[in-house]
Amino acid sequence: MYDLVIKGGTLALEKGTLFADLAISEGRIAAIGKELEGKRVISAEGMLVLPGGIDMHTHMALPVGGTRSSDDFYSGTVAAAFGGITTIADFTVGSPHTSLKEDLVKRLEDAKSSVLDYVLHAEIVGWKRSRVEELREVFREGIRTFKFFMAYGDSGRRTRDGQLLEAFREISSVGGVALVHAEDEEIISYLEENLSKEQWESMKSLAFTRPDVCEATAVSKAALIAGYTNCRLHVVHLSSAMGLKEVQKAKEAGIKVTAETCPQYLLLTEEVYDLFEGHLFSASPSLKKSSDCSRLWEGLSNGFVDMVATDHCPFTRAQKAWKGSFKKLPYGLPGVETSRILLFSEGVKKGKIKLSDFVRITSTAPAKLLDLYPQKGTLLPGADGDVVIFDPEKEWTLSAENLHMNVDFSPFEGLRVSGKVAYTITRGEVIIERGEFTGKEGRGHFLGRLRRED
Ligand SMILES: [Zn+2]
Repeated sequence: MYDLVIKGGTLALEKGTLFADLAISEGRIAAIGKELEGKRVISAEGMLVLPGGIDMHTHMALPVGGTRSSDDFYSGTVAAAFGGITTIADFTVGSPHTSLKEDLVKRLEDAKSSVLDYVLHAEIVGWKRSRVEELREVFREGIRTFKFFMAYGDSGRRTRDGQLLEAFREISSVGGVALVHAEDEEIISYLEENLSKEQWESMKSLAFTRPDVCEATAVSKAALIAGYTNCRLHVVHLSSAMGLKEVQKAKEAGIKVTAETCPQYLLLTEEVYDLFEGHLFSASPSLKKSSDCSRLWEGLSNGFVDMVATDHCPFTRAQKAWKGSFKKLPYGLPGVETSRILLFSEGVKKGKIKLSDFVRITSTAPAKLLDLYPQKGTLLPGADGDVVIFDPEKEWTLSAENLHMNVDFSPFEGLRVSGKVAYTITRGEVIIERGEFTGKEGRGHFLGRLRRED
């Protein structure tokens, strides 16, 4: 007798689907088969049974210019669970004046309220030689991924190319992964310096000053340095066809590079900046053109784009109040709750990607990159009991009002979607049950030190 049996659903496995029961005991997937018996049984007839989603890229309670992104680790992970996510990867908050270990300790405090399991990427701001020892120190604490900004010179977060070279060599030697925000500061800062007053006051200048070529030159440079230092590289929030081409080139050259894109780059274009509330879409990279969206969808289907994350970093309308320039806004969009639903509805249902692609790009691939596979990212016996029961036919309309993220607008307001989470289960515990959150604040584990060796 198993603890929990999910009966009669269609299991979405990496290689295809299987009509079977799935059993969970002691927090782990225990069996796949027919006629399994459980102390608790959930019927999944007509439903898809998915491995829990892994969002590679969130920013809960991120301090930015005197404010914080409006979801903390509690509200943000509850919303994520409603969207079929069971693990998130957030970031430490780096600074030139603190050590990576100090950043980690501080961020683990913020993350204590998480209802989902989580890992943290170490954000590195202010690379210097002494970071080498710091990097080894946090690696021993379970940090595998190290994030660098190639842009944002104006806020002091940029890492210079020579510093990247040195840092990538060290990350390679410990066996970590370098994450880059790939936008070319040289191009952005020149374009910004030469804006007219009128352009300075226009939201459209966000796209003008961060063109696709600035992503492509940065991706290309980061990939060359990664190849040279034999370092694993992950490009976050890829937004353009040109950037994708550089990822593809690097992959074909044998460089160990992966890339994520986000729903906003698949579904929205720079035309939204013309809207009355266009400033609510402030985020970087900027949104691009519909041809870029198409190429990114193709990339997901053919594997040159490895996964979808959200860059979830919500700010409310009040926080994003227009102050006269596209530069005077906090940058970031909400997304952790809607990502899998959008991917399913706009991707799988519309034939742009297959269900097996969906499983790979929202669960398996991020688990592998984060060194969590096969503990996470799969429904195979032995894995953590992170399972989502998904109603593929349920039609509903996305709106800030029926979503759970702590933000009063949605970039996808009014969009009709097909597919909704019925149950979210993590480590065998049902935390979303037919529209209700049934989990507990702080139940999430920091997976850094808890990666299983088996
Ligand atoms: Zn980000």
